Amino acid sequence: MTVKRDALPHALYIHIPFCVKKCNYCDFNSIVSGTKIVDRYLHALEKELRALQGRYVFKTIYIGGGTPSILAETQLEKLLHSVVRYVPASEIQEYTVEVNPGTLTGNKVALLKAYFVNRISLGVQSFQDSQLKLLGRIHSGDDARNAFLLLRTSGFENINIDLIFGCPGQSSHDWEKDLRIAVELNPEHISTYSLTYEEGTPLTMDLENEVVHKLDESVELEMYKTAIRHLTSAGYNHYEISNFAKDRCECSHNQVYWKNTGYAGAGAGAFSFIDGRRTSNVRDVFQYMAGIHENKNVQSFGECLQPEQFASETVIMSLRLRQGISNTDFYKRFGYNLEEQFGTQINRLVKEGLISYEDERLKLTEKGLFIADTVMTEFV
Ligand code: SF4
Repeated sequence: MTVKRDALPHALYIHIPFCVKKCNYCDFNSIVSGTKIVDRYLHALEKELRALQGRYVFKTIYIGGGTPSILAETQLEKLLHSVVRYVPASEIQEYTVEVNPGTLTGNKVALLKAYFVNRISLGVQSFQDSQLKLLGRIHSGDDARNAFLLLRTSGFENINIDLIFGCPGQSSHDWEKDLRIAVELNPEHISTYSLTYEEGTPLTMDLENEVVHKLDESVELEMYKTAIRHLTSAGYNHYEISNFAKDRCECSHNQVYWKNTGYAGAGAGAFSFIDGRRTSNVRDVFQYMAGIHENKNVQSFGECLQPEQFASETVIMSLRLRQGISNTDFYKRFGYNLEEQFGTQINRLVKEGLISYEDERLKLTEKGLFIADTVMTEFV
């Protein structure tokens, strides 16, 4: 079986694993730490970026976290300078930095602009202070609005707003209000995620101790449907399960993940997927820094995807996109049709009205969209 592995990655992810404080729901790879550790980390990161120099031609860069905007202005400039130094800016089409509204200053915005960042992902989550407090966010609803306006007036023309729904105590009215405020701000992209209770987080402990109560699944589903209705009628294209974009403002970087093509990662815990091999850097910030310092391989995990597994992951990820997966493209990549490996599942799911073919694209139906996780397990 011949599989085209998209040998060279065109997307670069850079991880900044620091936050002002941990949010109550968060299990991302981030820690609260002093400025000296951040300096040491940036030094290690620069070394890792230098090692990537000249190896790949990246079209997208995404600096995420953690909280990249937590960096002090001099640290931010050092990071952005390392990026332009080791990654040729002329090839970059999309350059995103995640920003927390509680950590933004005019000078940081000016630096982001000066170093060619052309897309900002703003972690708003909610515009309502009661929700933000429950989530343990460090900013208010007004901070979020002001951060957006600062970015806009500073010339950023491609801004994403992240929103969370399904929080304990959140009413449909609260959620509609968040959506309304987001739409009024008129960002190019809106991501809406349902709250998940991750093991060991303070919010999950509160849930277990019955301090907070999970919203009913049917209420959450209605909230999701409200988001789709509200955002599509405001002119956003619902192009991925959780993502909405104005015309031609879909996130190119994240589409690399959804299409299961190659990417490189730098920083603690960052994943890479190169030539069919998936690897991950060690997650622990201190082990990462020590490893880089000692010129050691900092990868803590690596696997070569078997062709069937690669195909299966490609279908699962691509079904997240509302345009689904093209059988022609699949054939070009894997050398056989979707039916050859997944015929039984496809027939059953089509009969149940959960997926359908449109021309030669296999995609989730609206019914399938609302139970997407269940549909996707059929392709594992
Ligand atoms: S800001 Fe983001 S990464 Fe940091 S603790 Fe909150 S949710 Fe986690």
